Amino acid sequence: MTTYATTPGATAPATRIEQKRHINGTFPGPKSAALAARRAQVVAKGVVSGVPVYAADADGAIVRDVDGNSFIDLGAGIAVTSVGASDPAVVAAVRDQVEHFTHTCFMVTPYEGYIAVAEQLAELTPGDFEKRTVLFNSGAEAVENAVKVARLATGRNAVVAFDHAYHGRTNLTMALTAKTMPYKTDFGPFAPEIYRVPMSYPFREENPDITGPEAAQRAITMIEKQIGAGSVAAIIIEPVQGEGGFIVPAPGFLPALAEWAAANGVVFIADEVQSGFCRTGEWFAVNHEGVVPDIITMAKGIAAGMPLSAITGRADLLDAVHAGGLGGTYGGNPVACAAALGAIRTMKDQDLVGRARSIEAQVMERFATLQSELGEHSIIGEIRGRGAMLAIEFVEPGGKVPNPEATKAIAAQCLREGVIILTCGTYGNVIRLLPPLVISDELLADGLEVLAHAIRSVQPG
Ligand SMILES: *Cc1c(COP(=O)(O)O)cnc(C)c1O
Repeated sequence: MTTYATTPGATAPATRIEQKRHINGTFPGPKSAALAARRAQVVAKGVVSGVPVYAADADGAIVRDVDGNSFIDLGAGIAVTSVGASDPAVVAAVRDQVEHFTHTCFMVTPYEGYIAVAEQLAELTPGDFEKRTVLFNSGAEAVENAVKVARLATGRNAVVAFDHAYHGRTNLTMALTAKTMPYKTDFGPFAPEIYRVPMSYPFREENPDITGPEAAQRAITMIEKQIGAGSVAAIIIEPVQGEGGFIVPAPGFLPALAEWAAANGVVFIADEVQSGFCRTGEWFAVNHEGVVPDIITMAKGIAAGMPLSAITGRADLLDAVHAGGLGGTYGGNPVACAAALGAIRTMKDQDLVGRARSIEAQVMERFATLQSELGEHSIIGEIRGRGAMLAIEFVEPGGKVPNPEATKAIAAQCLREGVIILTCGTYGNVIRLLPPLVISDELLADGLEVLAHAIRSVQPG
């Protein structure tokens, strides 16, 4: 049994796979190479994998490949396996559910698991008003439905999204997403009535002294002058932006936007698909500033990888939709609901909110030290994030010019040494750390040493 020195009282679950990094020598190994060759014959090129090895097993924060290599997982399958890759509570709940039924369709013959998940979401999401929930399969589908509800409930069309936003790959969510390559290029035409306004991105503000409320006012002025408040159905924003570069807006930005939305009859949608479920050291990232969204979209961390997403919001908004207006064949699949209930139980039992904060403290300390050692010509531009949603933005030495080459080289070196690291950012120059929240302190420290070593080896001079 692993204990967490930094989170007294919390006990990690027993793991099947030894929580230790191990690389056999050849990378990628022969079995992964053989699978890559088979893949090239049948899988479309548009689907790209960041890691050139193939998974055979995974547990806790270790992914073991088909050649017997063990990788420290600092990506959690993009913030999904927060409770670990095969959490016993999730495995037991899923096993029990599949032995009974795998599908009836909630729109045909409903079942308890869906209701139990909705009860959990009503309890866990901020806001002490009546709430309603609808379950779907993917984050994009949740976002689409949040927008549908907001448009119907307000009778308005315009939707406001932000620079650097990522909301998915379906037609509407491509329109909401900011970055063209690879998400949008040549996939248009896009859904209409989407407007983009400036984000608060403290590291890249032209005026470094701009406050959160001032940055919000910049966006609000643009909305009022270019769209008209009375035409806006919804503002959708990631409280910590994910794919865009783990951008944490300046304090006061989110509260000012939420306040303006409330005063103007605009639905405030927090897209917490990546930032939700303990990831940022709160159940939801909006909690850091006491912001209460009208609708929250959730997915990634919700069900440990079983496809499940949700929208939870004010009852008056969601219940405005006519009977039959919301749903889908697989939405709220019973196996996925069982997984969510297991994952939520683990998050509560193991205080994963506390674990995320402890991970933040450990990572921040390690990289603050490194940054000061690298001095004024450091390629580390900024270290930022909340909880276990942390990022390092890389720049040309000493300046602010994005350095995607260094970022790629660092991630590749980590991989060769047995650490899975994800990159992101509008400029491709951000390494993001999204470890499973159950990672042991020892394993995290080992992974961070590999990363620190890779940064040093890329740092010029
Ligand atoms: C990943 C993500 C989505 C899309 O989720 P999918 O399940 O990939 O459709 C939407 N919003 C945010 C903030 C995300 O990080």
